[in-house]
Amino acid sequence: MGQEKGRPLAPLPEGFTDRMEKMLGEEYPAFLKSYEEGRAYGLRVNLLKGSREELYGRLCRRFGLVPVPWCREGFYYGQEDRPGRHPFHQAGVYYIQEPSAMAVGSLLDPQPGEAVLDLCAAPGGKTTHIAARMAGEGLLVSNEVHPARAKALSQNVERMGVKNVVVTNEEPERLAKIFPGFFDRVVVDAPCSGEGMFRKEEQAREEWSRGHVQLCAGRQRQILDCGAKMLKPGGRMVYSTCTFSPEENEEVVIRFLESHPDFSLVPAPGVLKGLSKGRLDWWGDQEELEGAYRIWPHKARGEGHFAALLEKKGEGPRARTRGGGGPERKKKGQNGNGKDEGLFSEFWAGTVPYISQEGFGLDPKRLAWFGGQLYHVPKGMPGLDGLRVLRPGLHLGTWKKNRLEPSHGLALALEPKHVGQCLRLDAEGPETAAYLAGNTLPAPEGRKGWVLVCADDYPLGWAKAAGGVLKNHYPKGLRV
Ligand code: SAM
Repeated sequence: MGQEKGRPLAPLPEGFTDRMEKMLGEEYPAFLKSYEEGRAYGLRVNLLKGSREELYGRLCRRFGLVPVPWCREGFYYGQEDRPGRHPFHQAGVYYIQEPSAMAVGSLLDPQPGEAVLDLCAAPGGKTTHIAARMAGEGLLVSNEVHPARAKALSQNVERMGVKNVVVTNEEPERLAKIFPGFFDRVVVDAPCSGEGMFRKEEQAREEWSRGHVQLCAGRQRQILDCGAKMLKPGGRMVYSTCTFSPEENEEVVIRFLESHPDFSLVPAPGVLKGLSKGRLDWWGDQEELEGAYRIWPHKARGEGHFAALLEKKGEGPRARTRGGGGPERKKKGQNGNGKDEGLFSEFWAGTVPYISQEGFGLDPKRLAWFGGQLYHVPKGMPGLDGLRVLRPGLHLGTWKKNRLEPSHGLALALEPKHVGQCLRLDAEGPETAAYLAGNTLPAPEGRKGWVLVCADDYPLGWAKAAGGVLKNHYPKGLRV
């Protein structure tokens, strides 16, 4: 299950196959044969929407799910299942993620309340995994250097109902100047030559060259240096790629350790079941490199990944109180002042009348206006002056016609129990499809004002009840 018979793709690049043969020796035929098999399909259930067991219980009736050994919330699904087309996808019940990529979040092991940085974050697979493990507590800064990809990242963060993420669009070097020694954990999921994508993407095969591998390796070293600067003493960093070349994997890590004596590799026994170890030297005696892991398509069900767990010397962040150090929170546009708290209460009482503020865990002191947009910023949010910020936390609403209109992001972060006006639709029924297409629906009797529309128990978005109809507020750009 989870594998399709591959259609013929462009041939594998010769320079790649030559190198892989030298690297893998007698394992090479099995590696090559894996290209005749279909790719593995995976989804990761969103722990912000329920426990693993609860979500598995809901989904296993619909999709043929098989656990991914190295990620407790990850499952393989069958190609015919098409979970991307199910309304639960729009509701953020799961994230479709290549199974190997799930190893990174498991290895990082982020904890609620920590300060975490995802330095190369788009489209958001690792970020949404980390956010779910953090359970809405602490601060996650998700950065993406390319503006269009940063936008896609921000949308995925919204879809998955994440409350404590700041999405930035910055060069790693600029972030490193602003956040020295700030984060408990950092992920550098670096741009790479994408050899692990060869089974599913023709373009990755066509773009491959030895020169590109070298170019990627140079860039990876620079990005990793930036990540290292932003890690607290005692903090942990995962460096990962979806490629097989030693130049971009073990060699990057070994050179990094040579120039950063305050770092060491950390073995993670038991965390990553089913994975292979990296090698100190693929061309020599192939001694294992403890703390560096590989997923091979001929040994595990995944497209391929490399991940290394690094630790910076010093007192472990877990032993200290959180939130210390780092830049101060910006005063302008962020508040805790009486005016905004008053406005917020009015918003809650008048505009979204039946939401229980306490149950949802909003803190009026963490409200922040950015233009006409109201956000709830994560605890420990640093100063963002001069940074390109797409999302400074949970978007609560937009100031429109002298009142606040609740945001789509807020709908996705709520649970039905938080609101008085909720409309549960059968996830697979025609009304859910009509809502996602942007149509109006008949309003249940007696309803007036904002109604949270759900697929079964999972929020999809807002509708506004008036005069017996529900006006559709599902965002136009997302309509199906
Ligand atoms: N972590 C992401 C996920 O799980 O969805 C995938 C990240 S992808 C492997 C690498 C990302 O690095 C891309 O989004 C790419 O735009 C970004 N990138 C490219 N050049 C970069 C650079 N010089 N510095 C930082 N990031 C860069």
